[in-house]
Amino acid sequence: MLQRISQRNAPRAARRLRQASLQVGCYQAYRGLATPSGPYDAVIIGGGPGGYVAAIKSAQLGLKTACIEKRGALGGTCLNVGCIPSKAMLNNSHMYHQTQHDLQRRGIDVTGVSLNLTQMLKAKDTSVTGLTKGVEMLFKQNKVDYIKGAASFVSPTRLSVDLLEGGSTEVEAKNIIIATGSEVSPFPGGAIEIDEKQIVSSTGALDLQEVPKKMVVIGGGIIGLEMGSVWSRLGSEVTVVEFLGAIGGQGIDDEIAKQFQRILAKQSIKFKLNTKVLSAEKKDGRVFIKTEAAKGGKEETLEADVVLVAVGRRPYTEGLNLEAIGVEKDNKGRIVIDDQFNTSVKGVKCIGDVTFGPMLAHKAEEEGIAAVEYIKSGHGHVNYAAIPSVVYTHPEVAWVGRTEQDLKASGVKYNVGKFPFAANSRAKTNLDTEGQVKFLSEKETDRVLGVHIIGPNAGEMIAEAVLAIEYGASSEDIARTTHAHPTLSEAFKEAAMAVCSKSIHF
Ligand SMILES: Cc1cc2nc3c(=O)[nH]c(=O)nc-3n(C[C@H](O)[C@H](O)[C@H](O)COP(=O)(O)OP(=O)(O)OC[C@H]3O[C@@H](n4cnc5c(N)ncnc54)[C@H](O)[C@@H]3O)c2cc1C
Repeated sequence: MLQRISQRNAPRAARRLRQASLQVGCYQAYRGLATPSGPYDAVIIGGGPGGYVAAIKSAQLGLKTACIEKRGALGGTCLNVGCIPSKAMLNNSHMYHQTQHDLQRRGIDVTGVSLNLTQMLKAKDTSVTGLTKGVEMLFKQNKVDYIKGAASFVSPTRLSVDLLEGGSTEVEAKNIIIATGSEVSPFPGGAIEIDEKQIVSSTGALDLQEVPKKMVVIGGGIIGLEMGSVWSRLGSEVTVVEFLGAIGGQGIDDEIAKQFQRILAKQSIKFKLNTKVLSAEKKDGRVFIKTEAAKGGKEETLEADVVLVAVGRRPYTEGLNLEAIGVEKDNKGRIVIDDQFNTSVKGVKCIGDVTFGPMLAHKAEEEGIAAVEYIKSGHGHVNYAAIPSVVYTHPEVAWVGRTEQDLKASGVKYNVGKFPFAANSRAKTNLDTEGQVKFLSEKETDRVLGVHIIGPNAGEMIAEAVLAIEYGASSEDIARTTHAHPTLSEAFKEAAMAVCSKSIHF
């Protein structure tokens, strides 16, 4: 029957086939032509970095694959309202700030510099659209069926999909991977309501149509600091309120966190640490934020034009109808999985933000690949000890592996090697010398346990540390490896040298 469908009558034929397949309860998504057939080998729910990478890999491994996404665009949080738009704003706001405040001392006189926020937001949107469309192309190239709609479980092998174009259908699969990601955590107790205009989440903060005169950021984690930096560079007076005594969120080394805060403070960002936000109320076009000391007492009211609530993200499983098949969740709403990404229900796997581990795009991607490899061959691999974190401020902060405070607390004997960018020739020629590289290596074996970098291009440089940890390298291995001169990466080598002997230039 399929061969008989000509290009000319394809749309009508496709409609007919879809109607027919709806009647039998099994609809295979189509690219131009409907292709009725048996169940998929793998269906992935969610087209974020976890889901779309899993789908592409699955198809590459020869599995008949579909990905169901309800957003209307692929790429998930990361490409649409996360990593990509935030990095576009960080990059361009840095250029604006640098042009205003840094170019003159480099012998570049520029006059008449002004901000065109509309164009900056447009440039961000262009990057987003380009990349999300790019993923769609990759789906086509790899023959992944892209089903636009919201999926919910009917059984462990059958999903019902509310199609974005209207109507619904059912999809059958031998394996289903849940990759539905995360959503913004609301302010605890519902004391602050996000309107995405004056009281915004990261999504609203990526799309403010005016530079707020004053901005209060609730939460000094990665997202709060990145978005705070953007608006501070564009002219906002930014105050970050953090419940804990340090900034940077989970996994940052204490020493680096302190240095990071000092550097951001020099950039005019104000910090209120050990401070609890109680409420935020809108009045006369402004927002009034009540705080008290984290330990109690000492109340204060801050005033702002815009408040960014950046208190974290939570797993997203709404509408999946997990109850129908009995998928287990923990008390934080994360889907429980074993070390092969199996949920409590046979044939249903789970990856990315919606389950355990750091909420990072590259972690979700690695899990996506490993999960389909388990489906295909029974083997997969993610090394959770070697997942880097990066804060894309300027300077950047990046780390992988264990922190010094963590090693101390667990009684591991270690050596430390440090090298400041102020002693690195490239950083000096670039007039960009803030920060350092810090190595932590096991005392007995010299094996690299953790690397923490604050400095220019830290986010790129950390890849070498990730590789070192992945391969079980010693700091001496790195110290004896040639690094090109003059590069920032020489600071990395010299910090490794400093672990067991001495660096040359400091
Ligand atoms: C402002 C911001 C900046 C960030 N910056 C970085 C960064 O620089 N680096 C980094 O590594 N991480 C960053 N992150 C985190 C990163 O975006 C996430 O870790 C990543 O997107 C998680 O991928 P995922 O595939 O698990 O889920 P998601 O990207 O959240 O994708 C899940 C998808 O599933 C879809 N979905 C949900 N339910 C259904 C359903 N029932 N049917 C069909 N589709 C469904 C959703 O629409 C969504 O598109 C940032 C996040 C934010 C908010």
